[in-house]
Amino acid sequence: MNFQDLENQHTSGLYAKRPLTIVRGQGARVWDEQGREYIDCVAGHGVANIGHSHPKVVRALSEQAARLITCPEMFYNDTRARLLARLGTLVPGMTRVFLCNSGTEAVEAALKFARYSTGRSGIVAAMRGFHGRTMGALSATWNKKYRAPFQPLVPEFHHVPYNKPAALEAAVTDHTAAVLLEVVQGEGGIHPADAAFLETAQAVCRERGALLIVDEIQSGMGRTGKMFAFQHYDLQPDMVTLAKGIAGGVPMGAVLLGERVADLKPGIHGTTFGGNPLAAAAALATLEVMEEENLPQRAASTGAYFLERLQAIQSPLIREVRGLGLMIGVELKRKVAPYIQALMDQGVLALPAGLTVIRFLPPLVISRAQVDQVVEALQSVLTE
Ligand SMILES: *Cc1c(COP(=O)(O)O)cnc(C)c1O
Repeated sequence: MNFQDLENQHTSGLYAKRPLTIVRGQGARVWDEQGREYIDCVAGHGVANIGHSHPKVVRALSEQAARLITCPEMFYNDTRARLLARLGTLVPGMTRVFLCNSGTEAVEAALKFARYSTGRSGIVAAMRGFHGRTMGALSATWNKKYRAPFQPLVPEFHHVPYNKPAALEAAVTDHTAAVLLEVVQGEGGIHPADAAFLETAQAVCRERGALLIVDEIQSGMGRTGKMFAFQHYDLQPDMVTLAKGIAGGVPMGAVLLGERVADLKPGIHGTTFGGNPLAAAAALATLEVMEEENLPQRAASTGAYFLERLQAIQSPLIREVRGLGLMIGVELKRKVAPYIQALMDQGVLALPAGLTVIRFLPPLVISRAQVDQVVEALQSVLTE
């Protein structure tokens, strides 16, 4: 059967497809129908942090599936209770957790909780920022391509330049419910925040009664060399949004809630699948794997090695190599699409971030030998 024709006939049409059918994955590698192997630096857009089909997650899912798949949060559940306890002790002072099913839902919830807590409606977000595609999260997202067809969006969202503390300070008023920022901008081109920018954001939020929400959907779960990217800075956010890597590939989102978030009353928000036992079992196993295999530390050391090797590439096409841990961007002086295709032909899957950045978000378990292969493939496609 030709799966590509089949998908093309019935897909929504929303996704720019690559001509590759992935049927299997293990660790940092995936395989197509013909058994051809690829090093996966897409990892489901930075989802497969612990590697594809980790045996611990496979076991947790199959055991949980055989016992109980669904259970709404109106009832208690053993697996969910254990997950909440684990998530609720990751960051000091963030003991409460809201569970949902995707990144955009986590952002949407955080925006609602900020309005509910402060009684205010303004949101300050950053230019180049990406926060998801539902109407609230989309209103915080910067790229015109995503926003323009869907106007009018939610009012009172303001965008300030990233890493410009003075502009942020000027935008936060006593109508601001929250400042929402990525710690490393992902879709926007892999831009890590300056410490002064985040520290100003926190200070201004506290001074003016707004909440600081950090979006760790892409940068969290060990990706940048710490469990959360904000932990590289002197920061205590009021909410942290999570998704992507949180459940080993199974859909899940979460919001960690700090002490400045009001008590959330029954009924003001919710979702049917939130905290379902199957996703909870996967997330619990994922968190255990991250700890047992020291994956944040591994991301730090492999990421430093990867960055160093990329920076050593001599090519007039490269404008800049930047990143934090295993969240890495190579900015070219021209459009990256043909280079990403050429990398695929060489057995390496990579992502664009905007038009001119090649983005690498490999599983954190990627080996140095695999990093070497990726770097050599890049070197060869840039000199062809
Ligand atoms: C991917 C992403 C989202 C949206 O997550 P979805 O699960 O696709 O809705 C939000 N914020 C950031 C920083 C992301 O990278």
